[in-house]
Amino acid sequence: MDISVVIPLLNEEESLPELESWIRRVMEENRFSYEIIFVDDGSTDSSWKIIQDLSKNNTNIHALRFRRNYGKSPALNEGFKIAEGDVVITMDADLQDSPDEIPELFDMVKNQGYDLVSGWKKKRYDSKFAKNIPSKFFNFTTRLMTGIKLHDFNCGLKAYRNDVVKNIEVYGEMHRYIPVIAKSAGYKKIGEKVVHHQKRKYGTTKFGMSRFVRGYLDLLTITFISKFGKRPMHFFGGLGTILFLAGFIMGIYLAVQKIFNSVYGMTDRPLFYLALICMIIGTQLFLTGFIAELIQTNSPNKKQYGISDRI
Ligand code: UDP
Ligand code: MG
Repeated sequence: MDISVVIPLLNEEESLPELESWIRRVMEENRFSYEIIFVDDGSTDSSWKIIQDLSKNNTNIHALRFRRNYGKSPALNEGFKIAEGDVVITMDADLQDSPDEIPELFDMVKNQGYDLVSGWKKKRYDSKFAKNIPSKFFNFTTRLMTGIKLHDFNCGLKAYRNDVVKNIEVYGEMHRYIPVIAKSAGYKKIGEKVVHHQKRKYGTTKFGMSRFVRGYLDLLTITFISKFGKRPMHFFGGLGTILFLAGFIMGIYLAVQKIFNSVYGMTDRPLFYLALICMIIGTQLFLTGFIAELIQTNSPNKKQYGISDRI
């Protein structure tokens, strides 16, 4: 199979029929063998009913339905697990991303050797204040912190070689950082393609301003995880050892003064308390590292989400 299109959606009933027929048209014109994987992220409108109807007329449609709203990242994650196409393309369900970009994205991954190609909404049709300006800032910091030269990390339209999506785990709200996750999994050839963007035709955006706060916390998590995720002891153990040693040396110094110089009143000295705190926190950090290491070596690496139906 050439292409899997993975589409996470939450309450997008008006857009779905139009999106499906547009994708089908593009696929047929280019003679691609394909599948469309709809992941219904706990919609409360008639989205699932519409997907059921669409799948009756198009056997290339597969779909998953979450029992509740888990978020865009878990939706992508579960879609990725079952994607069979050589190239996996993700796309928002709201018609803001154009299926006409598919052939070129496919070509870049299939023939030009890209592991991942990210869409770049060079000209955006979202509100300036709520989206454009904050997102410039967001992209700038992410570029700075991760060293990946992309203009638009958060674009829903992206293409991957199949083995890329099988080897990454997207959870929480990490969909904004898939290029970062992919890079830390060892996929280096990351490209970018300018894509057309349109105004949302139906419904409203599913993300409020909270996206920015969460986005930054996620960025911190991800830089930490990609650096120390597989070796937490190197971070906590290292810091813990330094602190403990510092406290220990202070303690020795105090003891030497007491024994040889007969300086009494050891517990009245600030240094005594500093030494204590350093040793205690140092030990705690060390144990934290040890426990993190145990969890990291013993945890099953795939998360489970409640899926209620499949097509
Ligand atoms: N979405 C989802 N789960 C959520 C929020 C959003 O599956 O909890 C889907 C949504 O239906 C759409 C895509 O993610 O297909 C992008 O969402 P939206 O268009 O609201 O984001 P924006 O374009 O405003 O950034
Ligand atoms: Mg949108």
